[in-house]
Amino acid sequence: MAEAHLIGSHETLEVRKIFCIGRNYAGHAKEMKADVPEAPVFFLKPPTAIIADGGLIRIPSISKELHHEVEMTVLIGRGGKDVSRGNALNLVAGYGIGLDMTLRDVQSEAKKKGLPWTLAKGFDTSAPLSSFVPADQIADPHDLNLKLDVNGITRQQSNTKNFIFKIDELIAYISQFFTFERGDIIFTGTPEGVAPATSGDRLEAQLSSPEHTVLASLKVSVQ
Ligand code: MG
Repeated sequence: MAEAHLIGSHETLEVRKIFCIGRNYAGHAKEMKADVPEAPVFFLKPPTAIIADGGLIRIPSISKELHHEVEMTVLIGRGGKDVSRGNALNLVAGYGIGLDMTLRDVQSEAKKKGLPWTLAKGFDTSAPLSSFVPADQIADPHDLNLKLDVNGITRQQSNTKNFIFKIDELIAYISQFFTFERGDIIFTGTPEGVAPATSGDRLEAQLSSPEHTVLASLKVSVQ
């Protein structure tokens, strides 16, 4: 069973659905040569994709091109359906950092053939996930820094103020079609700078305050 942890609490939540937003930063849409979407684009990963801090990413033999995508994550603490934007943030239990590990070659092939992204995005170990900072400790979730270092060198860096779709908008939109449950997680999309990660690489992701105080962090390696 995959679990989500709230920092400073013994409470754990069983992870249910994992929603991942595609193209939520203009810079990333540009580097993928994709349009900025008019409505949020999202896909699902299974809870079995999760690995915790200190875990190991295993590249399936079908792929020669694993990419990292660092993303701010949202833990849903209260369920809801047809949630209004005004009420959306009341569903959030906490904020963290995660990696949407992607088999880019498998995804490119799927895009070409019009096939689903399930294998490229949802394989075992494709969702490294930090613990979550309780939502009541975050003054503004749309002003948090996120960063990914690979072997000590910064590869991706942005701020959640650069989101195309804000968290309340994402929750309201998704909840029209999917009922949120306690333990659901949203990966909010990656900024520009996605690149290959190869065997032996050490990945360190951080979510920090506007003053650069680290709020949540995650260290994993590629097998
Ligand atoms: Mg992503």
